[in-house]
Amino acid sequence: DSADIGVTGMAVMGSNLARNLARHGYKVAIHNRSVAKTEAVIAEHGSEGAFFPSESIADFVASLKAPRVAIIMVKAGGPTDAVIEELAEHMEPGDIIVDGGNALYTDTRRREAALKERGLNFVGMGVSGGEEGALNGPSIMPGGSPEAWERLSPILRDIAAKADEDGEPCTTYVGADGAGHFVKMVHNGIEYADMQVISEAYDMMSKALGMSAAEIGDRFAQWNEGDLESFLIDVTATVLKHVDARTGKPFVDIILDRAAQKGTGAWTVQTALDLGVPVTGIAEATFARFVSGDIAQREAAQKTLQAHTADEQITDPEQFIDDLQKALYASKLVAYAQGFEEIAKGAEVYGWDIDLGAMARIWRAGCIIRAKFLDRITEAYERDANLTLLLADPYFAEAINDCVPAWRRVVAFAAANGFPVPVFASSLSYYDAIRAERLPAALVQAQRDYFGAHTYQRVDAEGSYHVEWTRDRSETRTDGGEG
Ligand code: NDP
Repeated sequence: DSADIGVTGMAVMGSNLARNLARHGYKVAIHNRSVAKTEAVIAEHGSEGAFFPSESIADFVASLKAPRVAIIMVKAGGPTDAVIEELAEHMEPGDIIVDGGNALYTDTRRREAALKERGLNFVGMGVSGGEEGALNGPSIMPGGSPEAWERLSPILRDIAAKADEDGEPCTTYVGADGAGHFVKMVHNGIEYADMQVISEAYDMMSKALGMSAAEIGDRFAQWNEGDLESFLIDVTATVLKHVDARTGKPFVDIILDRAAQKGTGAWTVQTALDLGVPVTGIAEATFARFVSGDIAQREAAQKTLQAHTADEQITDPEQFIDDLQKALYASKLVAYAQGFEEIAKGAEVYGWDIDLGAMARIWRAGCIIRAKFLDRITEAYERDANLTLLLADPYFAEAINDCVPAWRRVVAFAAANGFPVPVFASSLSYYDAIRAERLPAALVQAQRDYFGAHTYQRVDAEGSYHVEWTRDRSETRTDGGEG
C-alpha cells in the first residue's frame, strides 16, 4: 500500500498541512530531517488519519504512489534547495515536487527550469493562513505546469479553505513557474499595508482622542460589521480588548513598539521597484516597520527634533472616528489596488496568464487578508478583465470618492498635530497624483534634459527634443524626425 501524497518538513506548517490532508482521507507520507518531529506527529495526531512516516527521503519517496507528489514545507532558501535536490535524486520523470514554503518567485522560476530539464514537475505553491490555516484550510496559490495543476487540483480543492459566500475552495491555478509564489508575495505585501492602516487609525484614536485600548477595540468590532469586515479588523478588535495577565494593563500597551518582519513585504517592494509599479502603500508600511525598529535613531530624534504642532482639540470625536474609518478604507483600497497592479505587471513581464479576479476570489477565506471587500475586486475584473486602473472601476471610484473629504481631514489633522500616518498620507498623495491633470514631472524632465541631455517630449508636437542649455539654448529634435 502506498501514500497518495507526501509532506516533508514537519514544523508547524508542514505537520498541519499533513494533518489537513489526512483528515480529508488522503494517505499521507510524512518526513522530517530530524526524526523526532515526525514521531511527534504520529504520537499526537496519528489517529487522525493514515500517515506513512519515513526516516529518510529515499524511503519517503518510495512510499509514494506514482506519479508521485511530494510537498516541501521547510525553511525557505538554502534548505529548500537541499531538500529539492535530495527528492529529485529519488524521483522519476512525471513526478511532482511542490514547494509550499515562502520562496522568492525568482528562486521558484530557477528551480522550475532546472527540474523541468530532469523531467520533473515543480510547483511553487503559496500557502497563506498561518498554522491555523494549514490545518483547517488555507488559501493556496499554486504555480507550475497546467498538467501538474490537473493532478493536484482535486487534492488542493479538498484541503483549501472554502469561501462562506458560495463554498468555493480558495485555490486555483495561478500561472506558470513562479506565478503562485509571486501572488503569495504580493498577498503578504498587501497584508503589511492592511495592518499598517489599521494601526494608523488605532494610533489616532489613542493619541488624538485619548481612547483606551478597549474602547478602540469596540470601534474595530463595530467596523467589522461594515465594508471593513475582515480577519485583520477582527483580530485587531480581539487584541485591543485583551488584558495582560501579569499587569492587568491593556495587552497592547505592554508590547514593545518595534515591528519585526520576515522579508516578504520587502520582496514585494523590491519587485515593484524592478517592475516600475508604484506600490506606495506597501512600501510605506514596510518602511514604517523599519522606522519603528531603529531604536537608536528614534532616541536621537526624540531628543532633538521638535513637534511645532498646532495642538488642535477634536471638537466632534464621533465625526473624527467616522473620518478615520473612511481614511482607513480609502487607504486600504489604494494599497490593494496597487498590489493588484503589481500582479498585473508581473503577469505581463513574465508571461503569466493570471486571472486577477480569481486571485481576489481565492483570498476570501483561509488567508490573512481575507475580507468581504475582496468580492468587489473580483466583480471589478469581471466587469473588465483588462482594467487599466483598479481604482477607476466604477465601484472603487465611487467608494473612494465617498471617503475623500474625510480622508483629507484626517491627513491634514495628522500633519498639523504631529501624528505619523505614512500610509494614510502617501495613499492620499498617490490618489491626488494619479488623478492630476498635470504633474510636476514636466519639470523633472526639464531638469533631466539640462544636466544629462536626457531629452523631453512636447505637449504640442511629436518627437523627442533637447535644448543646448550651455550654448545658445536652441532646441533640436533628437529622434530624427522633422521639426
Ligand atoms: P520553519 O520555516 O521554521 O522551518 C522548519 C523546518 O525546516 C523544519 O522541519 C526543519 O527540519 C526544516 N529544515 C530546516 N533546514 C533544513 C535543511 N537544511 N534540510 C532539511 N530540512 C530543513 O517552519 P514553518 O513550519 O514555520 O514554515 C515552513 C515553510 O512555510 C517556510 O518556508 C515558511 O516561510 C512557510 N510559511 C510559514 C507560515 C507560518 O505562519 N509559519 C505561513 C506561510 C508559509 P528540522 O526539524 O530537522 O530542523
